Amino acid sequence: MSSFKRFLNFILELFYPKFCLGCGKEGTWICSDCFEKIKALDSFYCPVCRKRLPNGEICKTCSGKTKLSKFFAAARYESPLIKKAVHKLKYNFIKDLAPPLSSLIINFLKNFNFDSDFLIIPVPLHKSREHWRGFNQANELAKEISKSLRVPLDSNELTKIKNVPPQVEVKDYQKRKENIQGAFRVKRPELLRNKRVILIDDVYTSGSTMEECAKVLKRAGVKEIWGVAAIAKF
Ligand SMILES: [Zn+2]
Ligand SMILES: [Zn+2]
Repeated sequence: MSSFKRFLNFILELFYPKFCLGCGKEGTWICSDCFEKIKALDSFYCPVCRKRLPNGEICKTCSGKTKLSKFFAAARYESPLIKKAVHKLKYNFIKDLAPPLSSLIINFLKNFNFDSDFLIIPVPLHKSREHWRGFNQANELAKEISKSLRVPLDSNELTKIKNVPPQVEVKDYQKRKENIQGAFRVKRPELLRNKRVILIDDVYTSGSTMEECAKVLKRAGVKEIWGVAAIAKF
């Protein structure tokens, strides 16, 4: 974060204390009572048709349409508290929400064993956008998850080389796919060859961003990709 932005945040926090987005209690963005009430999801889902896949197996109908072998989201976007939280985290330069959102992901993923082939990779932002925002929200989540699961984090090899309009501003699925095409690149494929990747993003809507990242990772030789988002639209 630039020193000016840090200064601005300091001033803002001085004059605008935090209030719980759920109940208004002062002190945090989501108080522990409201956090308890968020219905966390507890199963893998098909990244294409979004059917629940309790055993984590690939959805047979959709297996040809995605490069992800598993997909998990911690919560539904439709939950009002989540909606507000994501909006704050993304647009108001507030990093404080990464820990509570990532703890929902960790609660689910800690049920699995990750061997030394696994790597955690956040969906990258274009440099200029990350600079403007001060941080990459997917990376904030990835850092927490990596620390807690003890799976190494790699925020460097997958990069965004094209500064495309934000996907939220592109409405239809086909256009979103075209918009994001060719936007990502793996710097040194030899470092990712035969790895398994947990690909992290904050919000999963059409899925085209994560799918494009997965395509590039597969081309670099990654053998398996789990898509993981804090929030997904169902
Ligand atoms: Zn509350
Ligand atoms: Zn499916």
